[in-house]
Amino acid sequence: MIKEAFNGLRTAWKGLALTLKHFGGATEAKKVKGIAEANYFEQQNGIATVQYPHQKLPVPEVGRYQLEVVIDDCIVCDLCAKICPVDCIDIESIKATEAIGKTSDGSVKRLYAPKFDIDMAKCMYCGLCTTVCPTECIIMTPQYDKSVTHISDLNYKFATMTEVEAVEKRLEQEKQLAERQAAKLAAMKKMQEDN
Ligand code: SF4
Ligand code: SF4
Repeated sequence: MIKEAFNGLRTAWKGLALTLKHFGGATEAKKVKGIAEANYFEQQNGIATVQYPHQKLPVPEVGRYQLEVVIDDCIVCDLCAKICPVDCIDIESIKATEAIGKTSDGSVKRLYAPKFDIDMAKCMYCGLCTTVCPTECIIMTPQYDKSVTHISDLNYKFATMTEVEAVEKRLEQEKQLAERQAAKLAAMKKMQEDN
């Protein structure tokens, strides 16, 4: 009987110790730590469940989750789309008739972007697009819970131009092209006449 009582106390203590360990682990997990810290993964010890969304597991500072584009800083160079291994970035550009402003890093903007779509359903989160961007306007954010109800909603649209504005800019570009070609033709004719 004494032995059984001792065993009961021992197992009760083991259960209590496990509960205390989980409690301590959960408290520790609420503190965000950098991925570079040696004990980054150790902080998740003892966690069985988190009270999401009130409590979230920490994510690495360099984690790749959702892409974001600061479209005002985009110079529409298309480098991100070209390097994407799965072709999930779709950009359309319209050449402006003159410089249209500067990005926050001072790069001159000469192209409009009537379309800038990223299909996150196809994205493999390699991060290559973020490394080639000259203005660092396409970035990986730590947001991992951007859920949608239909897969087509994962095709994120970052362009801010309206269709009317896009048509106007295309017409301006065509007009400028036509004027330049007319001027070139006139210059060639004049050269022929002078000869
Ligand atoms: S992270 Fe990789 S796959 Fe995703 S859009 Fe960028 S280059 Fe493409
Ligand atoms: S690489 Fe950067 S600047 Fe160039 S189109 Fe992509 S997001 Fe815009």
